[in-house]
Amino acid sequence: MAIERIIDTAISADDNDEQIIEVSLRPHSFSEYVGQERLKKNLKLAIDAAKKRGEPLDHILLYGPPGLGKTTMASVLAHEMGAGLRVTAGPAIERAGDLASILTNLADGDILFIDEIHRLSRTVEEVLYSAMEDYKLDIVIGKGPAARSIRLDLPKFTVIGATTRTGSLAAPLRDRFGHLYRLEFYTPDEIAQIITRAAGILGSDIKSEAARLLSTRARLTPRIANRLLKRVRDYADVNGDGIIDTVTTERALSMMEIDELGLDPADRLMLKSIIDNYGDSPVGLNTIAALTGDETSTIEDFYEPYLMQIGFIERTPRGRKVTAKAHKHVSSSNAKKPEK
Ligand code: ADP
Repeated sequence: MAIERIIDTAISADDNDEQIIEVSLRPHSFSEYVGQERLKKNLKLAIDAAKKRGEPLDHILLYGPPGLGKTTMASVLAHEMGAGLRVTAGPAIERAGDLASILTNLADGDILFIDEIHRLSRTVEEVLYSAMEDYKLDIVIGKGPAARSIRLDLPKFTVIGATTRTGSLAAPLRDRFGHLYRLEFYTPDEIAQIITRAAGILGSDIKSEAARLLSTRARLTPRIANRLLKRVRDYADVNGDGIIDTVTTERALSMMEIDELGLDPADRLMLKSIIDNYGDSPVGLNTIAALTGDETSTIEDFYEPYLMQIGFIERTPRGRKVTAKAHKHVSSSNAKKPEK
């Protein structure tokens, strides 16, 4: 679609600078990992228990919208356990053989992080859950009548799976996880802390009121907070003395057309298209996708969670409904002309 999104999906492969910065901003320990207190409390306990027993951590499934810190938590856990970390993603493991080669190269205690675990194929999923169950790998060697199956012992590893939807995971795989945790949206205070920490790492001077202002526009999501910070930092460097205060922040946000709720032009266009075509009747996901030109998965994973969190969209058995609150917001932002 034509409109660029600040909250775009994952980082594109050619966007190396973004990736390097994202990695450099990633917390390494529980003390640096802001918020998600319940998750941290439970996982600290799990680590202490595993260390005491001299065993690897039980398998962990983290779910929730993108950018909330699932990958970051996997690296924090590896660091806190003193374990090796291998990172992969569901779509990257195409065949059972790909998984077999990953598993046989792990060492005892290693953590295998599988992002988008709901996108594993059924055959790979089956190999994975038997490996998770008893650390054994059954592989078939040869073809036809000469084929035989052999059983390999695997190291005692931990899978940390990340998904935006638990519903898409086959029940037998879901059942192999000892811990299932949902990551929650952050509070604006927590997002302000994340912004201040990131600014420190990037060597930017941000005033606390500016961090607070930015924290209300970041869709309660650390990845977006860090991205907005980088854009505002660029703006302050080019148009001022590099100091990020509320004036530069407001100007940069208005240039990006991010409104006071953190919605960007693509969100507003989606809401407006639904309102213009369907008013307040429920609309199916495929219809919304056709209206905006996005994949249904983009709508489900990227637009919807935050719009539901702020009470702009409701899921009903007959489809998605835009609420009265959203109607009001869209008509008032249409009335205002964005400042340039
Ligand atoms: P996910 O895997 O859920 O999509 P990531 O773990 O990749 O999200 O997080 C995106 C970025 O947001 C990270 O690079 C990190 O800098 C930042 N981040 C995420 N969670 C936190 C947190 N709790 N505290 C500080 N920074 C965080």
